[in-house]
Formats: sequence, structure tokens, C-alpha cells
Amino acid sequence: MKRLIEGFDHFRRNVFPSQRELYKKLASGQSPSTMFITCADSRVMPELMFNSQPGELFVYRNIGNIVPPYAQHVSGVVAAIEYAVKVLKVRHIVICGHSDCGAMKALQKPELVKDMPSVAAWMKHADVARYVVEQNSHSLSQDEALACLTRENVVGQLEHLRTLPTVAAAMARGDLSIHGWVYDIAHAELDAFDAQQGRFVKLDLNAAELPEATPHLRFAASAA
Ligand code: ZN
Repeated sequence: MKRLIEGFDHFRRNVFPSQRELYKKLASGQSPSTMFITCADSRVMPELMFNSQPGELFVYRNIGNIVPPYAQHVSGVVAAIEYAVKVLKVRHIVICGHSDCGAMKALQKPELVKDMPSVAAWMKHADVARYVVEQNSHSLSQDEALACLTRENVVGQLEHLRTLPTVAAAMARGDLSIHGWVYDIAHAELDAFDAQQGRFVKLDLNAAELPEATPHLRFAASAA
């Protein structure tokens, strides 16, 4: 805990003074352009990875970067998404998985979470990925299966995301795009799901077009 308090002291004395104006502006409101949903894993640090400033990213983290589908039972992540879309009016939602994910390993070996009933119940929301991989990918090594599961979990959670009415409505009129990424911790690389190609591709800053996980909009603002 002392390490945290020392860290805050460092921030107050060495970081805050040079950004005083920014913090003054942010003290009365936020308008982030992107909601970033990723795993709670301590090795995944969105603000560091994207060199982002306070107020830029609306980050939500949970075990396995999961978004439960629309249902009567409301989860924290679903409430946060609704708020981000309706109030903050974010233009993008990214769901980002990562390499060496403990949650994905638990999907591979459910016995790892047998003494954690809440985690086991939470991981049910990722069953879609387990089934897709089990029934469609054969003769994969353990590592390949884990990577495949990690990608399929992102695709599955993107599909859950589309079941939320606020998300579906904003996407249909072109106000919101959704993206599925996987972060490789060892190599500092990001792969993005390309819906048109039906596969993950390397994110390349110089590419003519960035991969899109979003279906085409149906209600353009001008037609509304
Ligand atoms: Zn993880």
C-alpha cells in the first residue's frame, strides 16, 4: 500500500503541475470519444498503451473482458455501456482481449475455477467462445487453442454487445462503431477483428482503412 501512496505523491508533485489546465477543465465534466472494455489483468494498461490523457478513454475492466448479453439481470458492464452511449455519446466501443489471459485458461480448464462459484458463473458468458473453438478447431496445440479462444471470446462478446438496445440503436444510425482487438503482451502488438474478412488482422497505422467489426449502418442521420 505504501507503494501506492508514494506513487500518488509522485503524481501530485511531478505530473499534475504540468497539466494543471487540463485537470481544471476536466474537473467539471468528461467527454471521452471511446469506451474501452478490457480484462482486469494488471498487465493490460489501456492509458499507458494508447498514450492517452485523462478524459480520453472511458475504461471498463472485468475478468475476461466480458459483456453479458441483454437480459433481465443487469451487470455493471452493461450499465456502464448504456451510460457511455446515451450520456457520454462515445463514438467507439472497443472490446480488447489479451495474450496469456487467466480467464481464457479457466475456460479451457473449468476445474481451475471450481472453488470460485462467482467466477465460474461469470465465465458462463464466455461459453460461446469455448463451444465455437471446441466444435470447429481440431488438432490445435494448447497455446494455439488459447489464442483461438481469446479471439473467439472477443468475437462472442462483440455479438453480445449488439444485443444491448442502446448499442443496436446507435449502431443502426451510424453514431457508434464497435471494435474487437487482442493485445499481445510479449510483443506489444494489437490484432483487430475484420468483419469483412472474418478474421483478425494486425492493426497497422499506415493501412488505408482500419479493420471494422461493425455491420453497415441502416439509418443514416440524413435519412432519419
Ligand atoms: Zn485476462
